[in-house]
Amino acid sequence: MFDVESIRKDFPILSRKVNGKPLVYFDNAATSQTPKQVIDTIVEYYSKYNANIHRGVHTLSQEATDKYEQSRKKIQAHFNAKFSHEIIFTSGTTHGINLVANGFSSILKKGDEIIVSALEHHSNIVPWQMLCERTGAILKVIPMDLEGELILSEYDKLLSPNTKLVFVNHVSNALGTINPIETIIEKAHAVGAAILIDGAQSSPHIKADVQALDVDFYVASAHKMCGPTGVGMLYGKESWLKKLPPYQGGGEMIAEVTFEKTTYAELPHKFEAGTPNICGGIAFGAAIDYMNTIGFEAIAAYEHELLEYATAKLLEIEGLKIYGPLKDKASVVSFNLEGIHPYDVGSILDKLGIAVRTGHHCAQPIMDFYKIPGTVRASLAFYNTKSEIDALVEGVKKAKMMLS
Ligand SMILES: *Cc1c(COP(=O)(O)O)cnc(C)c1O
Repeated sequence: MFDVESIRKDFPILSRKVNGKPLVYFDNAATSQTPKQVIDTIVEYYSKYNANIHRGVHTLSQEATDKYEQSRKKIQAHFNAKFSHEIIFTSGTTHGINLVANGFSSILKKGDEIIVSALEHHSNIVPWQMLCERTGAILKVIPMDLEGELILSEYDKLLSPNTKLVFVNHVSNALGTINPIETIIEKAHAVGAAILIDGAQSSPHIKADVQALDVDFYVASAHKMCGPTGVGMLYGKESWLKKLPPYQGGGEMIAEVTFEKTTYAELPHKFEAGTPNICGGIAFGAAIDYMNTIGFEAIAAYEHELLEYATAKLLEIEGLKIYGPLKDKASVVSFNLEGIHPYDVGSILDKLGIAVRTGHHCAQPIMDFYKIPGTVRASLAFYNTKSEIDALVEGVKKAKMMLS
């Protein structure tokens, strides 16, 4: 039995009121809420052993360094990387993608091709466009269909010996589509291309095994998996991380500095210039521990039950359209009421204490594809309940009545 009521007690924020109503938090795809186990880790860090890492001989510095490196090992174990130095701490998914895109500036040549999908978040589009501008490489796009799925036969046509890099998300944040990354990775490798998977949206629901996937780069953000904002991870195969040049210069990333020449530190420090988000990195490990205690299989099964319930209930509302797959997706419901702007629905829901996201969800090309300004997105997490979904459905009905 999945005991959601006892899980909810771990999340202090879930007992607050918004506009006089109990908070119903359905904006989990933008950021997840934080359990007290993670909050306690943050408080403990600043109360007991706040110090800079890797440099000090003193006790606090050693304690902080140990905890930070233990956290890297937890992340390594969770994603099943071969070596802990293949895990680079970043400020989040966006930073990880930019780090890789920047590294490829010195690898790509004019005329090389890179492939993105139509289902991407802006942070997995713009850095690659910038890379193309710098190098003269060409950006190609795997198209999507009306069901919100990628058209793989078109992907086959785009692949060629000129393809150097492919990057797709595992789960679309706007629609919840789960992309068949195993196939996408295999096909990229078959033409000799490297592949990056944006795991920002999948990592809270699906445990990825980077070795089994044989992926070259995998990025995620702590704040979408019950951790704090401003910290994330980049996994890169050792051979790639050795090949890519550093992204930023500074302290911590050097072996030796003279004015003639600087040599770089070993992995992972080569990519970790400056003082990192030490507390955040440690709390990221605590968040992963927390989610593993509940268990990813249990999380996915319960969220799927919520998704089916929400989908069925919302579709009973006349004039409501859901975008993207109706089944076999992550727990995201992206919808509109006919003739009503999503923003207006979101504002009425907020008055009722219900937090949803409205707009293009940093995925404007998807909205352009459907020829809509945006959607109302309810993204569900393992600490949500069916009665919260009932409140959402009542709220949407109310919005429809007031706005039409
Ligand atoms: C949230 C998200 C990002 C960006 O993550 P940040 O934490 O803002 O850097 C990228 N891709 C997807 C699919 C996302 O959901």
